[in-house]
Amino acid sequence: MTKSFDIRGVREDFPMLKKMMNGRHLIYLDTAATAQKPKVVIDAIDAFYSSEYGTVHRSIYEIAAHSTEMYSTVRAKVQKFIRAKEEEEIVFTKGTTESINLVANSFGKAFLESGDEIIISEMEHHSNIVPWQILAQERNLKLKYIPMTQSGELRLDVFKELLSERTKLVSVAHIANATGTINPIQEIISLAHEFGAKVMIDGAQAASHMPLNVQELDADFYAFSGHKIYGPTGVGILYGKMDLLQAMPPFLGGGDMIETVTMEGSTYQEPPLKFEAGTPPIAEVMGLGAAIDYIESIGSENIHEHLNQLMEYATQKLQEIPGLKIMGTAQNKGPIISFVMDDLHPLDLGTLLGLKGIAIRTGHLCAQPALNRLGAPSLARISFGMYNQTSDIDLAVSAIQEGALLLKPELSY
Ligand code: PMP
Repeated sequence: MTKSFDIRGVREDFPMLKKMMNGRHLIYLDTAATAQKPKVVIDAIDAFYSSEYGTVHRSIYEIAAHSTEMYSTVRAKVQKFIRAKEEEEIVFTKGTTESINLVANSFGKAFLESGDEIIISEMEHHSNIVPWQILAQERNLKLKYIPMTQSGELRLDVFKELLSERTKLVSVAHIANATGTINPIQEIISLAHEFGAKVMIDGAQAASHMPLNVQELDADFYAFSGHKIYGPTGVGILYGKMDLLQAMPPFLGGGDMIETVTMEGSTYQEPPLKFEAGTPPIAEVMGLGAAIDYIESIGSENIHEHLNQLMEYATQKLQEIPGLKIMGTAQNKGPIISFVMDDLHPLDLGTLLGLKGIAIRTGHLCAQPALNRLGAPSLARISFGMYNQTSDIDLAVSAIQEGALLLKPELSY
């Protein structure tokens, strides 16, 4: 059943959208950094701390048992949200960054040997680069990069040449955070699998944009963050195929992840608990559950369509601004537009827009290799969430034009 998308109703659900910034109504165009939260998420966390709070997995009393049950209900919600085969394939982490580090430290250290190769790409977020660099250095591995074209697309022809029997892992973004490119991950996964390599997908930007099906994609690992899908900070997800999670050693040691501990050594729980050492982010997991319920009440397809419409509108409006150049013009894009302006530094633009209550991201966007390839040390980036409307784009466009005029009065629009 298709539900209709009610932008006014959606906006009413997000208390932060009523805030003022620098004396102006907040226009929030930085969802790629972090999404605002609907009241149901804030309320779920509040209700949990106010009237249900107890630890998980450790105790037998009623509130702890209830917390444990709710915690595993959220795991099942995540499983359904990304169409994983088993609930136990969902590991709660702190975020995408920790999920990637978990795979690098556990899978990487257990199964990669000197001379093996990892392939990532030039368009990755730093959190999908640095863990592999550290691993490669420690283990004497070769780290290869799939190049990116000037329009922001991966060179699949080069990828095919980089793949070999030595390739043990490929890790790429589903949607790149600097250029907005939606990568052909299904093709990447199947090409890598032909060589027996495992594939990790950084889904930080994709999980809020499109319905996901990790089984159909045949991804070996898929990572994303709660805070980018309208949930709280401090919680993330690592999906891993069960046979891999079973074969992998623990990442962190501590309480919850063990079966027995003696002075001679320890045995570990089965996944996912093997990877969830210590008291987990319980309240954050509850908030994540509320965020998934909220997304599902609006409809992932509806959100996807709305974001695509905003993208189309914004791309057209921004292109009309003289001197503005969109960086990242791939055929297939998520709700992210990065750009530069002639004679106007992105940081100045960000400051001017901020004074008008408009929040955009500026700088290296945690993707310095991508920016180097594009030949721009700094970018301005507008990104959308389900609560954005075309008037947000209109206001941003006039503020950009005003900013350009302020610094270059000879221009006229
Ligand atoms: N990968 C991508 C593509 C991202 O956009 C981000 C966040 N900007 C991350 C990874 C890291 O996510 P987190 O900071 O939530 O761990």
